[in-house]
Amino acid sequence: MATLSVIQAGSSAPPAGAVLVVDDNEATRIALRAMLAPLGHVVVEADSGRAALRAVLAQDFAVILMDVRMPELDGYETAKLIRQRSRSELTPIIFLTAFGRDETETTTAYASGAVDFIFTPINADVLRAKVSAFVDLFAQAQELHRSLQAITDLNAALRESEVRARAVLQNVADAIVTAGTNGLIDSFNRSARRLFGYSDDEVIGRPVTLLIATSHQADFADPSPERWSLLTAKHIPAEPMETVGCRKDGSVFPMEMDMSQMTIGERTFTIGCIRDITNRKAYTEALEFMTLHDDLTGLPNRALFGDRVDRALTAADRADEPRGLLLVDLDDFREVNESLGRERGDAVLRAVAERLRGVLEDSDTVARVGGARFGILPFGDTDVESAAGIAWKVRDAFEQPYVVNGDVVDVRASIGASFFPQHGRTPAELMRRADLALQQAQRSGGGVTVVDEEPDDAIGRTLRLLGELRDGIPRDELVLHFQPKIDLATCRTVGVEALVRWQHPIGGLLMPGEFMTEAERSDLIEPLTAWVLDSALRQLRVWTDAGLDLSMAVNISARSLAHDSVLPDTIAQLTETWDIPAGKLILELTENAMIDAYAPVTLELLHAMGERLAIDDFGTGHSSLVYLQRLPIDEVKVDRSFVTDLATVPGDAVIARSTIDLAHNLGLTVVAEGVEDQAALDMLIEYGCDAAQGYLFSRACPAEELTVWLAESTFGAGRTDAPQPAV
Ligand code: C2E
Ligand code: CA
Ligand code: CA
Repeated sequence: MATLSVIQAGSSAPPAGAVLVVDDNEATRIALRAMLAPLGHVVVEADSGRAALRAVLAQDFAVILMDVRMPELDGYETAKLIRQRSRSELTPIIFLTAFGRDETETTTAYASGAVDFIFTPINADVLRAKVSAFVDLFAQAQELHRSLQAITDLNAALRESEVRARAVLQNVADAIVTAGTNGLIDSFNRSARRLFGYSDDEVIGRPVTLLIATSHQADFADPSPERWSLLTAKHIPAEPMETVGCRKDGSVFPMEMDMSQMTIGERTFTIGCIRDITNRKAYTEALEFMTLHDDLTGLPNRALFGDRVDRALTAADRADEPRGLLLVDLDDFREVNESLGRERGDAVLRAVAERLRGVLEDSDTVARVGGARFGILPFGDTDVESAAGIAWKVRDAFEQPYVVNGDVVDVRASIGASFFPQHGRTPAELMRRADLALQQAQRSGGGVTVVDEEPDDAIGRTLRLLGELRDGIPRDELVLHFQPKIDLATCRTVGVEALVRWQHPIGGLLMPGEFMTEAERSDLIEPLTAWVLDSALRQLRVWTDAGLDLSMAVNISARSLAHDSVLPDTIAQLTETWDIPAGKLILELTENAMIDAYAPVTLELLHAMGERLAIDDFGTGHSSLVYLQRLPIDEVKVDRSFVTDLATVPGDAVIARSTIDLAHNLGLTVVAEGVEDQAALDMLIEYGCDAAQGYLFSRACPAEELTVWLAESTFGAGRTDAPQPAV
């Protein structure tokens, strides 16, 4: 078994960086440790490539000293795997090798990421010099990394404020003109263009006095550019000044101008905020537009939507007509944002807004009422049928994928609707009911749902359930039951599968079918999986200590294999904590989880750590074995739907038999789940199936109960210290 030890040489200062020594030869490790001792670094030892991988998962190292020749994973392979993980991609690796190896070896070494060599026999001074150099580099790199991070953060903040400033500049109702010290126009915002009728290139670089009526250029004692600059630089009026502006077409208008000054780096600007005061009303309206519309899409915002609904309801009440409202929510939009980035996520939202506007009548109100949520208030009399018609049009808007900066994004949406008067008489009531309908639509996988008269018990229950589960996990309300896995060659138990249950304080013992789907869809799956792994491995340690040689299978949800999966780190830490040797933990994943775009890297890593991988529910997904062949899989579990009725349904027998043959051809172990009768078991044995689980042997039950069963059943576990049954 791999061992890992940490030896800290007697220094009280915090370590600059840890050194990992990987060598299967204990004498060499002791020698290296002794040579490194005077440097005072933390030295971690690993006696195999696998142990090295675990160590690297557990912490960052300044440098790794790696023996080239090791059994199983050799130094090069280990280095390659270490390099695959972005956290350790750049960790320097020094290979320890005998002097005078040939050229090809050196090439392989560099290809697998070596940065240096130390030849044996090792010269202690050379070793210390190299290690010190790398540890110093590591410390510097960390410092640099911290500074870079600070700069990146600062830059991002600056960029954001700049973008915001520019957006404000472009969108404020005021005309904003900036000029340099020479009195020449530098920039001209959208309102200025509207107010004066000039386009950018007609004014930029020309004197600001162009915008002042000739009659009033005397307001500026000297209309020359120098004068303007003087005025702006020295005598900026504190109060807004009133003067007369001149448009491109020669018409004049009274205007109010605020001036201020700004210095950016070496340059000084004068900023003029100009308002046409003949039309204060237009100005107020523009401001109103700003507060009642959504910046991003230009659509009415939630406040305005509420106001329109309110008015519509008042009118409907008077006319005794029905009204309806629809909520459209983009499915999994958080993922779009996460994978494409905020900016492109915003572009998708704008495109959606545009399409929604496009498919609806001008008289219908479309508003953005939340992050990825739009509200629709159809114009006039609206009943369920007409709302359904609108819902169909809305679905049209999502038929074609969206193309944003060359990315094709498939956006799907769910729709919920509610109606006046049957669902409520106020905007708030209707919004709430439409929201419940929307959640129902989302739960049933998208589409349209109209809330009906009955209260939505299902939704309420789900929400409550999730809240309770969130509290229940830390309160240890989850329990594991275990089901034995019987080797069909020996008819003895070789492993168990951990199956989670929830001891609900009121609801009693809940099966996974009653809460897993919700947990998988929420972020609760992460703490749940961590809890299951911890408890399962703890129990495995108990059984191992009792002399039982068992493997432990744990079910892993697709979501746990997401891109920045913490799963390998969790597993590395827990197998360490419970001292579980590699190969004893089996991770069961469904085909679809395996096909998940990000999974291969995580799977490779788990496999390299020595954990075994099984495909669960095999035969129910859509994958081809050819694809699965490329993944590092050890075991296939034939889904119980083909096994339970094996003896009576001929089709099932064909599927089971061909799956077993195919899997064997690919070198995989086959486990049949759901074996309920002797007839099915006999057929599986005849087909050469390797192992089986099912009610015929035992249901999943609490650990104590299974411990008794393991000792008493003829299918129980052979003790490691007892003679093994004959094969
Ligand atoms: P699964 O992984 O396919 O687990 C086997 C299920 O079949 C278990 O149901 C087990 O009790 C049941 N079973 C075992 N033998 C027989 C049999 O002979 N006949 C029949 N009809 N059924 C049998 P359970 O415990 O209700 O689990 C259901 C599913 O919930 C599991 O299917 C698994 O996908 C999921 N699950 C359970 N525990 C966990 C967990 O800790 N994490 C995750 N991610 N999923 C879990
Ligand atoms: Ca399973
Ligand atoms: Ca299964």
